[in-house]
Amino acid sequence: MISPFNNDDDHDDKPREECGVVGIYNDPEASRLCYLALHALQHRGQEGAGIVAATRDGVLNSVTGVGLVSEVFNESKLNQLPGSHAIGHVRYSTAGQSMLKNVQPFVADYMHGRVGVAHNGNLVNYERLRRELEENGSIFGTSSDTEVVLHLIAVSKKRPLIARIVEACEKLKGAYSMVFITEDKLVAVRDPYGFRPLVMGRRSNGAIVFASETCALDLIEATYEREVMPGEVLVVDKKDGVQSYCLSQHPEPKSCIFEHIYFSMPNSIVFGMSVYESRRMFGEILATEAGVDCDVVIPVPDSGVVAALGYAEKAGVPFQQGLIRSHYVGRTFIEPSQGIRDFGVKLKLAPVRAVLEGKRVVVVDDSIVRGTTALKIVRLLKEAGAIEVHMRIASPPIIASCYYGVDTPNSEELISNRMNVEEIREFIGCDSLAFLSFDSLKKMLGGNSGGFCYACFSGKYPVAPNGNVNKVVDFVDDGLNGSIQSIDGGWLQGSEDQGQDLNHEEDN
Ligand code: SF4
Repeated sequence: MISPFNNDDDHDDKPREECGVVGIYNDPEASRLCYLALHALQHRGQEGAGIVAATRDGVLNSVTGVGLVSEVFNESKLNQLPGSHAIGHVRYSTAGQSMLKNVQPFVADYMHGRVGVAHNGNLVNYERLRRELEENGSIFGTSSDTEVVLHLIAVSKKRPLIARIVEACEKLKGAYSMVFITEDKLVAVRDPYGFRPLVMGRRSNGAIVFASETCALDLIEATYEREVMPGEVLVVDKKDGVQSYCLSQHPEPKSCIFEHIYFSMPNSIVFGMSVYESRRMFGEILATEAGVDCDVVIPVPDSGVVAALGYAEKAGVPFQQGLIRSHYVGRTFIEPSQGIRDFGVKLKLAPVRAVLEGKRVVVVDDSIVRGTTALKIVRLLKEAGAIEVHMRIASPPIIASCYYGVDTPNSEELISNRMNVEEIREFIGCDSLAFLSFDSLKKMLGGNSGGFCYACFSGKYPVAPNGNVNKVVDFVDDGLNGSIQSIDGGWLQGSEDQGQDLNHEEDN
């Protein structure tokens, strides 16, 4: 099955990050800081946003909604979220009429209290865990893999809650960077492979902050302290401050290299490295290994900007803005009934004739997925007068789908899985095409290279997908409400949507 979402959005042919998470402990403005931090993480998901805050009396209040952070929250919504600790989430999801039901954070009652969770990543054993839980009586209220975690916590016999969380996490396979909120605690967990990022910072008033990226810490004036380590469980409460535990599995970490190639903001430190520096180096390597005579280097904005700067500097060629991105085009727009060629791309990217006319142009982008956008960009540049167009891609060819929280198309849709570099060059119509080589990428990472996941470039998955694995695109949004009510010992009580028919059609 081909994702309808990806087809609709083929004018912006990029892999998509699933989510961003944030947690704030012990700040009187916790939910407002969460809101600001979610703004900083908006690039990680634009389909939905939510915040759960704990009041002094231990009540967890939740506001979730579909849309951008600025669309979901306003003054009165934030006033509904008093309390000194809070967690938040921005979500990328499939298209659909509504997805409110799957917007996180999720909140559940279990036998000994209430817990909320926000999750970034994707569980590869979700279907098996869900089936086992359902066989034992659990009733699911959403089609999100994250709900499995809450059921596992609810059915655990361990005490206290932290032991239940650890026991639940030990059963998960795949990618998870999660923050939990309870009446009096914040808990941050990262899976043993550390696929997705999660960092810890501190504000000058001592408030602890967790976030997917350091750009969120910067915005709310929290100082970056360190990563939550792969397999680490950090518990924060008033009595003991910050305490560190670890999960029992200790494999070699496999952090997602795509965070550095595309997903994370260039001003973030991710996996201990500057994203800006990585991208600049990718561009420099391309200029060294795949240089070509040219008059101007231009980026595909915004994703190719930093790599193009690196390329231009290394090649000694002027960097110019040959394409201008419109930031005001929504994700869907009405196509004209009479075909206007490349309308979608033209709405987003406008060529600058003054930069391109009569020039030999190197155009730098971060990746090629299906090749449809690259083809249109080459055509735009040539129509605007470029006499040669040389495309340079600041990542190796993507040949395999991701199962760890990134929405990539099925492998048969990936152009690099179907064609070699020369065939792709011919398809997109440029004069030359070069990718960052896999070996050079690893060489650049040096001693750290073993600690990264490269499965979308190699097809070698660090955690084997287990049976039918739902990828991000498979979670069907059927839109009810945003929280899971009353899980007690694994039974969902009082929910209006019990027993619904969940569609998990696998599209591989
Ligand atoms: S498969 Fe690719 S996108 Fe997915 S975690 Fe690995 S490197 Fe990242």
